[in-house]
Amino acid sequence: MKSYFMQPLRGTKDILPHEIIYWQQIYTKASDILTIHNYSEIRTPIIESTNLFERTIGESTDIINKEMYSFIDQSNRNITLRPEATASIARAFISNKLYENKLQKLWYLGPMFRYERPQSGRQRQFHQLGIECIGSLSPMADTEVIQLANKILNQLKLKDYILEINSIGNLQEREIYKIDLVEYLLQYQKDLDVDSQNRLYSNPLRILDSKNRKTQEILSNAPNLNNYLSKTSNEHFYLVCKYLDNLNISYKINHKLVRGLDYYNHTTFEIKTDSPNSQNTICGGGRYDNLIEQLGGPKTPAVGWAIGIERLLKIIRQELKLSQQKITVYVATQGLAAQAKIWEIVQNLEKEKINFELDLSNTSFQKQIKRASKLGAKFCIILGDQEINNNCITTRNLDEHKQYTICYSQFLKEIKKFKS
Ligand code: ATP
Ligand code: MG
Repeated sequence: MKSYFMQPLRGTKDILPHEIIYWQQIYTKASDILTIHNYSEIRTPIIESTNLFERTIGESTDIINKEMYSFIDQSNRNITLRPEATASIARAFISNKLYENKLQKLWYLGPMFRYERPQSGRQRQFHQLGIECIGSLSPMADTEVIQLANKILNQLKLKDYILEINSIGNLQEREIYKIDLVEYLLQYQKDLDVDSQNRLYSNPLRILDSKNRKTQEILSNAPNLNNYLSKTSNEHFYLVCKYLDNLNISYKINHKLVRGLDYYNHTTFEIKTDSPNSQNTICGGGRYDNLIEQLGGPKTPAVGWAIGIERLLKIIRQELKLSQQKITVYVATQGLAAQAKIWEIVQNLEKEKINFELDLSNTSFQKQIKRASKLGAKFCIILGDQEINNNCITTRNLDEHKQYTICYSQFLKEIKKFKS
């Protein structure tokens, strides 16, 4: 019987056992690198009040307009499955008074939810690895944060990627720029793509992001945000770039990089691969100095990024080529007496940290040995009526197709040998 509910929901995927090793590798590598820089992992709830996202991400953004998974719960509360984690972490920072520690360096890895059109590299449930450095205005913070993305991607063997970086200044600078940008674009209103025409009034900065050729042509003579930045903003950006130079991290300045979320200021950046499809942005981030205050917390500057794990994995999978874990020992039994006695062996294998599979099929030894070979085990331990009667145990070396039987107590003493 084929039923629609026997398939995962559109835009969601099962991560199967043979893929998990890649996820574990990403988790471990990221954790190792971030721990060296004294970042701590944080896990916030997947559901939050809808309000949290509406107030932070921005009313005229795609996420808020059309991508949120929201519902009303039994107590009539508006709840949303988190579309990203920065707002949640800012909320957690305030709820748990983490500001008492001045500086917080946090990282996370978990599922995010956006109602988008599923396609390669774009899912409705996807995962982000992200970091947030909360409490510093220093350009050193921006650089350390960017360096960490670079380091993690490098260690995960991502090749041919480019870091694009920009400064979008502070809110006041952007407001003046917006007025001039809109005034310029209004002259060409009819020639802009439909999305950009709509954004003229709701979110004009996003027009800079447009992939439409005609719109890009019009934009080539538009006022440049860069010319609207104050000395302080320019100085901040200059230092971030200078420190990146000191680290030998190459980057490209892209004055049109404004990013989709409203809460950014000063530094914005993205890491892109050279793949031709439009899902080539692996990492996006920036500075957000007003978000925490805007949510009712103390004025606290911050900077962070998020990496899309599925997009990353699609590219690095080949490079990582991780081999699946094989078992060393297969434990075959037959008969009630053997199945009662085998637990002592199980405990000894555990104690020696020898990985094994305990057969649960109760089939013939021949079938059990066949399965042991299929799983790539080196040895098969055989305990049946014959072994029970003679107080011994049989071991089969599956590589050499040799089998020998020794007395049970001797076997327990030598169990370590399976390790080598
Ligand atoms: P895009 O422009 O591709 O929609 P975005 O600007 O919405 O990306 P961010 O909110 O900055 O993305 O999220 C950071 C990263 O998370 C992205 O660069 C991408 O790698 C990943 N990501 C975002 N949305 C999705 C999705 N629907 N499916 C898979 N990965 C995603
Ligand atoms: Mg998006």
